[in-house]
Amino acid sequence: MNFKTIKTFNPRTGNFLDQNYILSTLNDLNEKVSDAQLAFTVYRNTSGNDRAILLETIAEEIESVAEEILAIATLETGLQAGRIQSETVRTIGQLRLFAEVARKEFWLDAVIDTALPNRQPLPRADIRKCLVPIGPVAVFGASNFPLAFSTAGGDTVSALASGNPVIFKAHNSHLGTHECMAAAIARALERCNLPKGIFSSLIAEGNELGAALVQHPGIKAVGFTGSYSGGTALLDLVSKRKEPIPFYGEMGSVNPVILFPSALKDPKIVSSLIGSINLGVGQFCTNPGLILTIDSEETQSFCSRMTEAIDKCVGEVMLNKAIYDSYEANMAEISAEKSYTLLGQGTKVAGALSVKPSLALTSGKKFLTHPKMGQEIFGPFSLIVSCENDTELSEILMKIEGQLTFSFMGQEKEFNEQAHLIALAKEKAGRIIFNGVPTGVEVGYAMIHGGPFPATTVPNSTSVGTDAIRRFARPVCYQDAPQSLLPMALKDNNPLEIFRKINGKWCQDKI
Ligand code: NAP
Repeated sequence: MNFKTIKTFNPRTGNFLDQNYILSTLNDLNEKVSDAQLAFTVYRNTSGNDRAILLETIAEEIESVAEEILAIATLETGLQAGRIQSETVRTIGQLRLFAEVARKEFWLDAVIDTALPNRQPLPRADIRKCLVPIGPVAVFGASNFPLAFSTAGGDTVSALASGNPVIFKAHNSHLGTHECMAAAIARALERCNLPKGIFSSLIAEGNELGAALVQHPGIKAVGFTGSYSGGTALLDLVSKRKEPIPFYGEMGSVNPVILFPSALKDPKIVSSLIGSINLGVGQFCTNPGLILTIDSEETQSFCSRMTEAIDKCVGEVMLNKAIYDSYEANMAEISAEKSYTLLGQGTKVAGALSVKPSLALTSGKKFLTHPKMGQEIFGPFSLIVSCENDTELSEILMKIEGQLTFSFMGQEKEFNEQAHLIALAKEKAGRIIFNGVPTGVEVGYAMIHGGPFPATTVPNSTSVGTDAIRRFARPVCYQDAPQSLLPMALKDNNPLEIFRKINGKWCQDKI
């Protein structure tokens, strides 16, 4: 049989790597969805502890091939070894955190309203609800997190933790890394005696297979991390399905940073902003792409210091040709377009897809008349917007679309004086940062990596942090169910020892 294959590209050498990867077919897709549906009948009945053991076993398996992952991931992505190593640690930590969540079962949101047989005029039935897994989940990984938001990344892990099989669409920028991670998951499933169909993956060229995946009737939810164009194209396909399903898309963001006067004088402000702009070659969805301030002598001095710092920056190679081409086209446009002043550019390192970190300046007036200036430029770039006054700054923030983050730099007194801007940020973003840069997203219990459209397609969700698990579950309510038929979370004797809301009060009580 003849298989079609593709190769991955080395962004440093500009050459394709030797290894061939077999492209999946529509038949493969149908088979994998059927296997996932079958596996779901087993996996949905596993306990939180079983799922925790699976996630911990995947973490162990990844740890055991960390050297192999490092070797292939650095070649395919152009990312430095230190970055791949830290992302490996983050991916493993994420698996172990979700294992803890799965084991403790507190995410199940168990709520019990006990029966009131003597209530007048009508008695109340015994009503209990908790979350149950939703069914096979399609996951699309991003290019810029080859580990933490890819094969065994956040979306996969949160779907597995809540009892759902995953069909993963691999990113063509890092197929070797993907294969290492997918093999680690397969070994873990085998060690845990769980069906293979709980995790499978597809390799595709062009959009056809990804489109068929989100439209497949066996798929019950989608997790996507990537571009605005990809996310909205897939969302459009999902909305045309006969059976609507949730589509959790995490897309781009410019992450506005608002500098109040005291911040402009902070000796550390320039190094912390420049470090954040250039981190990971700016290829983070939390890159600070927009810096807003009010024009003053301090602003001009701040811009000069930022220019000096960006000029000294050394660039790096970008992840893939599409991202490189888009960055270079944007830089050419900014250099040619009079509405921008290109303040400075760093130097390029040797490497096929190498770019220069860059910084531009515009006025608040020009920003308000050029909607494109509010859109993400993926890479080591930021636009400083110098506003005439507070009113212009407010007007800009009112017009800005949904964001993953907003950052405010200054003193508490200034934050209080401009409380209306903080209130605006709350309307527009999933995370508000004070005196810190947006890059560096902690994976914990309270993290929100989400926000209103176009940052995401579901504003009341997060793709980072333990709350991500809820995206792949749905509530089921049981009315007057016999004890033997209730899920463990809802049984009278509280065998899971979880907090439950009983008649409106959170407690760990038995009934
Ligand atoms: P991308 O080009 O959107 O690709 C992501 C995945 O979706 C790939 O597997 C891609 O497959 C697939 N895909 C894209 N469009 C499709 C379509 N129309 N039909 C079917 N499948 C489609 O994203 P990327 O390559 O990772 O590019 C980086 C971008 O992602 C940046 O703009 C960045 O802002 C954004 N990003 C956002 C976040 C976040 O958390 N919000 C995180 C990381 C990245 P193919 O490769 O086969 O086309």
